[in-house]
Amino acid sequence: MNIILMGPPGAGKGTQADLIKANYPIPHISTGDMFRDAVSNGTEMGIEAKKYMDSGRLVPDEVTIGIVQDRLNAQDCNQGFLLDGFPRTVKQAEALDQVLAQLGKRVEAAINIDVPEDILVERMTGRISCKDCKTVYHLKFNAPAKEGVCDKCGGELVQRSDDQGETVKKRLEVYAEQTNPLIEYYQKQGNFYGIDGNRSSQEVFKDIEKVMGSL
Ligand code: ADP
Ligand code: ADP
Ligand code: ZN
Repeated sequence: MNIILMGPPGAGKGTQADLIKANYPIPHISTGDMFRDAVSNGTEMGIEAKKYMDSGRLVPDEVTIGIVQDRLNAQDCNQGFLLDGFPRTVKQAEALDQVLAQLGKRVEAAINIDVPEDILVERMTGRISCKDCKTVYHLKFNAPAKEGVCDKCGGELVQRSDDQGETVKKRLEVYAEQTNPLIEYYQKQGNFYGIDGNRSSQEVFKDIEKVMGSL
């Protein structure tokens, strides 16, 4: 199954990806996670990417397309993949189609999680995640049993530096300008599935399962 998860920042892509991963044996490829790993490892790419991430802008297409292309060529993508947060521009979507065509594959479903803007702001500003296992929580909507501590691994829960203030607003603007056009891109391909993300994670997941079951 070759799936992409789309939606504005804070829509619940990562949360749904975790639920999908637990039920389907396909690798979860999150460009945001890949960039954050590069930042914490202090690689050259990470240092460059951090500038864009902290200002709420997209990392340049050439960099992003390159890392996804390498990842899709890995052995574990033979049975399919779940792309989370990629593509985010029409140029990335076109590059993805090309890369997949070379591998004899295509995007089977572009699942778009839709959430109103005021809710997105609330979700982003309350998001915390585990430094170690990366599990995502929310201060109000999905709080850990013990404040500041990961339920799963006991790791420390931290807020992302880009989930604050002006950066949140900028990311929403960038989404509207650069990523929203992808809805039409995939509608034209006939593989677009729109999901109402303004419900509980379990309800959203049920609809995603329906889409995946229909492929
Ligand atoms: P994205 O990957 O799209 O940016 P996340 O999955 O990280 O989004 O979710 C953003 C924040 O909203 C997190 O704090 C998460 O716990 C919370 N969240 C995710 N889905 C829901 C939901 N259906 N209802 C309420 N809060 C949610
Ligand atoms: P969210 O969905 O909550 O915005 P992500 O973790 O997907 O968060 O992305 C965090 C940041 O990483 C983005 O704001 C952007 O700077 C960078 N990034 C992630 N994916 C891409 C992409 N496909 N193209 C360009 N930049 C990206
Ligand atoms: Zn953890």
